[in-house]
Amino acid sequence: MTPLDPETATFLIAGPVRIHPRVLRAMSTPSLNHRGEYFHGIVQEIRELLPVLFGTPGRQVVLSGSGTSGLEAVYSSLLRRGERTIAVTNGNFGERTDAICRRYCDTVTTVSAPWGAPLPVEKIREELEKGDVRALCVVYNETSVGLRNDLAQIVPAVKKAGALFLVDGISAVAGIPCPLQEWGVDALVAGSQKGLAAPAGLAMVHLSERAVGELRPATFYLDLAEHLKSLEKNDTPWTPAVPLFLALREALLLLKEEGLETRLARTHDLAVATRAAVAALGLTLFPDPAHASDTVTAVNNPPGLDDAAVRKALADRYDVLLQGGQGALKGKIFRIGHMGIASWADLLVTFAGLERILARAGRLPTPGVALTAIGTRMP
Ligand code: PLP
Repeated sequence: MTPLDPETATFLIAGPVRIHPRVLRAMSTPSLNHRGEYFHGIVQEIRELLPVLFGTPGRQVVLSGSGTSGLEAVYSSLLRRGERTIAVTNGNFGERTDAICRRYCDTVTTVSAPWGAPLPVEKIREELEKGDVRALCVVYNETSVGLRNDLAQIVPAVKKAGALFLVDGISAVAGIPCPLQEWGVDALVAGSQKGLAAPAGLAMVHLSERAVGELRPATFYLDLAEHLKSLEKNDTPWTPAVPLFLALREALLLLKEEGLETRLARTHDLAVATRAAVAALGLTLFPDPAHASDTVTAVNNPPGLDDAAVRKALADRYDVLLQGGQGALKGKIFRIGHMGIASWADLLVTFAGLERILARAGRLPTPGVALTAIGTRMP
């Protein structure tokens, strides 16, 4: 076996995702003065391009820090001790949201559903109707279980309650539609390493005018008001992750060239084909299939086969990298990320490899079924 070569591997984990060579090249630049004219020009371009990412203009910032920095910036600035927050959990990142909220608010009500179950809409409505809710915090796309939370269902109740609507869109933005204005979202957090296909390490945050008016930052580094103020001058309050900003600009340009709608449609088509291929192999999805995510597919591990061994065989024999489950789902599911610049070729080699592995284990119903399921869905 040759060791896996990251330069050529088929890289389909649930983020970070593969990065386009143009974005990689953008980072190999000599050090820049982050207070100089050239870099200010880069920041200005990023500022002008961010509406392409969020699908709408608005008050938007970039933070040097992974997606979690964006979540912490939002919750620390907008939650208040003594004022009730509802945190929704139906997967690992919902639990993460709940944990962050509890750092900044002592009156958090957790509304949960089992991991992989749909959004607990009725329970959320009930909690909102009890009144006095400052904010509702929820994950849009639950990466850990490959589930898309149907936020449209709770929008009327959130609006009626007058609560701030704070959404973790880290694995949703540039992957599934995010109608921010229509839903009245007050904060949406995106991560650089998912649908945008930039390197990991940046968080982009969209804020409503109401949210901007209510910012009361409780941390120094993640003070969103400072970031907004600096950005108006094409600047950042502290030294930014300069190479990542250069990469961000290029990834945003690529997104603009492709068009957000086209990227969302392509991501959807890849997801539909992935789910069809999974079914053709006789495998099942972990989440409720009616709510399966278009950016990450979570598959129940084939009974009797060891998840780590299957993924190791995929990597060793075919240079394909998939991801396992998190927490209690370790060894029980595997996940395929198909967002960003993932391609049909990626899916074909992945499922050809899975077919061979299942065939060797005597578990393949009919050779070629998964590849046909994909091939017949190719444009
Ligand atoms: N929320 C969701 C939905 C995620 O998918 C992730 C990362 O996978 C995070 C939060 C955490 O983001 P990061 O690891 O970039 O801090």
